[in-house]
Amino acid sequence: MLVVDPDVRIREQLEQLGHERLLVVIAVATPAEALAFARTGRVDAAIIDGALGAAALAFAHDLRAIRGLERVPMAFLSDRGEVESRVAAAHAGAALFLPKPVEAYGFGAAIEQMLALGREESMRVLVVDDDPEFAACVAAVLEPHGIAVRTALDATHLIELLAEVQPDLVLLDAMLPQVSGWDAIRIMRAMPEWRDVPILFLTARGDLESRIAAFDAGADDYLAKPLVPEELLSRVRVRLDRRRLLRETTERDPLTRCMSRGALLDALASRLSEARRHSRTLSLAMLDVDRFKRVNDAYGHVVGDHVLMRLGRFLTARFRLEDLRGRWGGEEFVIAFPNEPAETAAVVLSRVLEEFGDLPFHSERGELFFVSFSAGISSFPADGSTVDALIRAADRRLYSAKHSGRAHVVVGDAVAS
Ligand code: GH3
Ligand code: MG
Ligand code: MG
Repeated sequence: MLVVDPDVRIREQLEQLGHERLLVVIAVATPAEALAFARTGRVDAAIIDGALGAAALAFAHDLRAIRGLERVPMAFLSDRGEVESRVAAAHAGAALFLPKPVEAYGFGAAIEQMLALGREESMRVLVVDDDPEFAACVAAVLEPHGIAVRTALDATHLIELLAEVQPDLVLLDAMLPQVSGWDAIRIMRAMPEWRDVPILFLTARGDLESRIAAFDAGADDYLAKPLVPEELLSRVRVRLDRRRLLRETTERDPLTRCMSRGALLDALASRLSEARRHSRTLSLAMLDVDRFKRVNDAYGHVVGDHVLMRLGRFLTARFRLEDLRGRWGGEEFVIAFPNEPAETAAVVLSRVLEEFGDLPFHSERGELFFVSFSAGISSFPADGSTVDALIRAADRRLYSAKHSGRAHVVVGDAVAS
């Protein structure tokens, strides 16, 4: 996180706030220093003091001119919340406006938002259009920007198509054979999983009635054919960014950055049905921090929270990208390993336990302590074919890990040591 502010107190404060959230903060006084750093170091987001005025705007512009930083998320700091300065910040590409004085909560929320915007997550767009050339043209515009495009010529198998593609946005032509674009929107809006997916409707230019009908059916926006590539890209991006932000706040636990329970259950159900369809295995681990109540009792809740945050980050950094990590509740986490047998999951998790157990923690008074966890592992198909059954089996083994000394991983129903 790059911070540009001439005020040393603000720099120190943001360094401190960043430190608490396990972020590396590079705080410098001038745009020139910041640009010099950005040309060589890694920058995931930037915060600029809006009081720098025109120099702040110029800095924003110069920063984004650096290769690889064209879309780096930026926030402007300001003690004046006037409309003009907000407009100027927005024009310079700032995703956020942070009022001074900065408070820990506001700072945390802003950081999460900026990092969510910058995350290189690949987003998927589904294009349904009976003109294959048009679909190819959309792909040519979006794919160079890291947006994966899948196309279909009609909406007859819409439901299967959505399940397979799992799009983050749908581009839908009004005039489709068989199922019309309007009906396709109504179908999606009636399904809980697709009720919120952004839908951009494609109509002929100037066709007011069909646009109104599309909004009535539940479309979010429309695009007139023929397409202007820049307009397509920017309308799609704006929707994808919002969707990502929304997901970030509703589907992620703010303390640990793991998936929240609801999001985890949804994702688990879909991974499990994939495993069933392709006759693959899937393993699930339920883990629980050992003697966590003692950590809270001895060092206080703030330190306890810090431990959970570290564990959450740790779980996020370890394992494969496709593995799911969720906070089940309190100091309990669930991890799912698609395509991995229980034994492999157990080995991987035991290694992570060992590593985590070596991580030094400090109380506010400087006392050193260590934390471990216990885990139970279940797998599909051996332990059942529903999320419920897998959770129950993993929980049972977690319980037996607790009763056989804690700080280890139990795979089978016979207690391993
Ligand atoms: P065991 O090894 O048997 O799991 O012992 P334990 O102390 O970890 O288990 P217990 O269920 O008795 O206590 C869990 C504690 O976790 C109690 C609760 O206050 C604490 N806890 C749950 N959620 C949070 C949280 O978000 N922050 C903090 N600081 N503590 C939490
Ligand atoms: Mg517990
Ligand atoms: Mg516990």
